[in-house]
Amino acid sequence: MNKRIKWVSLSVAIIVLIAVVLVAALPQQQIANASVDNGYAGKKAKYVFFFIGDGMAMPQVNAAEIFKGTLESDNKMHKGKLAFTVFPYQGMQTTQSNNTFITESAAAGTALATGHKTNNDILGMDETKTVKFKTMAELAKEKGMKVGIVSNVSIDHATPGAFYAHEPTRKNYYEIGLALANSGFDYFAGGGLLAPTGPKRDKTSIFDIAKNNGYKVVNTQAEFTNLSKQDGKVFAVAEELAAEAAMPYDIDSSSGQVTLADLTRKGIELLDNSQGFFLMVEGGKIDWSCHANDAATTVRDVLAFDNAISEALKFYAKHPNETLIVVTGDHETGGMSIGFAGTEYETFFSKIDNQNLSFEEFDKRIKAYRNLVGEQNGNLNDWLPILADNFGLTDLTDYDKSRLKSALAASMVDPKKRGKDPASYLLYGPYEPFSVTVTHILNQKAGIGWTTYAHTGVAVPVFAQGVGGDLFQGYYDNTDIAKKIMNIMGVKPQ
Ligand SMILES: [Zn+2]
Repeated sequence: MNKRIKWVSLSVAIIVLIAVVLVAALPQQQIANASVDNGYAGKKAKYVFFFIGDGMAMPQVNAAEIFKGTLESDNKMHKGKLAFTVFPYQGMQTTQSNNTFITESAAAGTALATGHKTNNDILGMDETKTVKFKTMAELAKEKGMKVGIVSNVSIDHATPGAFYAHEPTRKNYYEIGLALANSGFDYFAGGGLLAPTGPKRDKTSIFDIAKNNGYKVVNTQAEFTNLSKQDGKVFAVAEELAAEAAMPYDIDSSSGQVTLADLTRKGIELLDNSQGFFLMVEGGKIDWSCHANDAATTVRDVLAFDNAISEALKFYAKHPNETLIVVTGDHETGGMSIGFAGTEYETFFSKIDNQNLSFEEFDKRIKAYRNLVGEQNGNLNDWLPILADNFGLTDLTDYDKSRLKSALAASMVDPKKRGKDPASYLLYGPYEPFSVTVTHILNQKAGIGWTTYAHTGVAVPVFAQGVGGDLFQGYYDNTDIAKKIMNIMGVKPQ
């Protein structure tokens, strides 16, 4: 080849290369811009579903997929599908609050509901605790849409509260309850209230104020089932409640009791109208079981949350061109991971299927045992048949047993007399030592690890389907989710 031809071919090659790079970069650039640009000129969504799994990030989602697949395939290599993991549009959100990289549910809920950052513990207000942020639910109500707020934890908790309340601290439960009763929203359902008559129990009950404001307040299964559009505004509390006015974990729930899916289906029935609706549904106890490092309880609550999303999909199938469904979490909890030092590349998720009660229910048995045998008199042999029956733990090693013995001894001390030394915090956190050691051992045998009893700062996945769903592709901030939803719903972020 002579020099000239060489130069020509080299130039052609360079031009082709540049063109290829430009063409490849173009759509990428457009996607990237779409993900940060919350402006939306497309068709507005008349029906908007916002599902928030508290404490649910990718590890919780993946663990539920593997658990479901393990059950479906009799332990073969098979990943189960969740209703929302097959949504066509997916992205990632950063979750840091205004003051820490590891957020909590009030700051995260405020970001997701209003599009504004705030400090941890503040609900729906700025970090100076003086400016109230309008929520997407309030804006939807002002626009004439019907609004529903559903959670399986108490309905005055941080995540549901972030959609209707504005308080300097998430702990102002009575004031949050007042905001609920005065919101004018159409449907509140799930858990109860943490302080319906105030912290000193001397105030007018929030339930009575809600009734005076025109709400039909129900708290039995039969009344809930019979609710119809003729009832107007509804505040429905589940008949069966566990600790902290929350509905029980799915693993503990008696059959026939109301589920998150039932609350969602009833919400759709009551809210459906010609002006459209906004429905927020929180799977609130995924967070709680992750705080306690209890994987079996967690994956079952993720699956119950997924069942609620399936109810929205049934509605979507009838109104595909008018409906938006967004599913995400507010942060990760527990530092959950698939993979543990002791199991390396293998997982044994069928092991967690052997657990048949939550850590919360197991704690009650430990307390009863302590009261029965007295402090310092715990004997691991009393527990071995129980660990086999309730957790499938029949393969305990000497090392497992030594951990269990120490933990049982720690659990036999009256909680009021327990010291707060750093070493025992690392082992047990604020939890019942024997209970958390049992779930640690079981989870580790399944190949599941935990790093904290609090939240972590990792990014959280976002899944979207329906009108404007493509806006949720990319990597963006939790505040952007609120702005995107508001734009697609046709209300102006403030
Ligand atoms: Zn939490």
